[in-house]
Amino acid sequence: MITDTHCHITCDTLYPDADLIIEEALQQGVDLMMIMCTNKEEYLRAQQLKAKYPEHLKVAYGFYPGDVQDITFEDLADLEAEAKAHHLDVLGEIGLDYYWDTTFKEQQKELFIRQIEIANTTNLPISIHMRDASRDCLDILKAYAKTPIIFHCFSGSLEIMKEALTLNSLISFAGPITYKNNKQGLINVAHCPIDRILSETDSPYLSPVPYRGKTNHPAYVHATVSKIAEIQEVDETVLQQQIRNNFLSLFPHSKNS
Ligand SMILES: [Zn+2]
Repeated sequence: MITDTHCHITCDTLYPDADLIIEEALQQGVDLMMIMCTNKEEYLRAQQLKAKYPEHLKVAYGFYPGDVQDITFEDLADLEAEAKAHHLDVLGEIGLDYYWDTTFKEQQKELFIRQIEIANTTNLPISIHMRDASRDCLDILKAYAKTPIIFHCFSGSLEIMKEALTLNSLISFAGPITYKNNKQGLINVAHCPIDRILSETDSPYLSPVPYRGKTNHPAYVHATVSKIAEIQEVDETVLQQQIRNNFLSLFPHSKNS
C-alpha cells in the first residue's frame, strides 16, 4: 500500500510508456498515484488513464508558475469548468517560483491567487509548488486558501515547515531526502508529525537513491518511504498505511481505501 502523491506520468517524456510505468508501480505495491497535469494535453491523457485504472489514479490539474507567460484567460476558464464538473481531484501544482526568474513575480502571484479562488469555489485541495518564494507563498495561502494544502516536494527550512504546518496542510517528501548531503531534509522529516506526511516521486525528476541518475518512476517511491520510516523510527508498513490515510483524508467522498 504505497502512495505516490505527485508524478508527471502524462508528460511527453513518460507518457509513451505510461501503461508499463503504472503496471511496474502496481507490481511494487505502489497502488495509488496522483498524476500532475500542467496543460490540457497532459490532463486529457490523464483522464484516459484514470478511466482505465480508476482505483489506482487521481488527477491533479493546474498551471505551474514557470508557465505564467503562456497561460491565457481561456486556459483559466477551461480549468475552472473542469474543476466545476468535478473531473479533477486536486488543483495544482500551483504556486510561486523565484528560482529561475523573478521578472514575472506579480503575474505569478496573480495566477496563483486566481487558481486558489477556483479551488475555493469548487472545494478542491491544492498542491503547492514553492521554490525560493516561501514568504510570499505562505502569505498568499494564509490570505486566500480555504481548502486543504499539499506542500509538494517540501525542501524549505524547519521554520518554514513549522509555519506551513499551522495551515490545514500536508507535507510531501520526495527523492532528495534520500541524498547523502541533504541534512535539512532529514531534519524536516524528523520534525514532521506522522499524520501530516506524504510521499511522492515528482517523476520523471528527482529519483531517490539507489535510482539516482535514472528517469524517475512512481515504482521508485518505495525508497523515499523507507527513508522516512528510518528517520521517523516507525515500521514501514505502518507508515505506508498512515501516508495512505493522510492522502485520502483530502478526499472524504473517495472510494479508494
Ligand atoms: Zn511536479
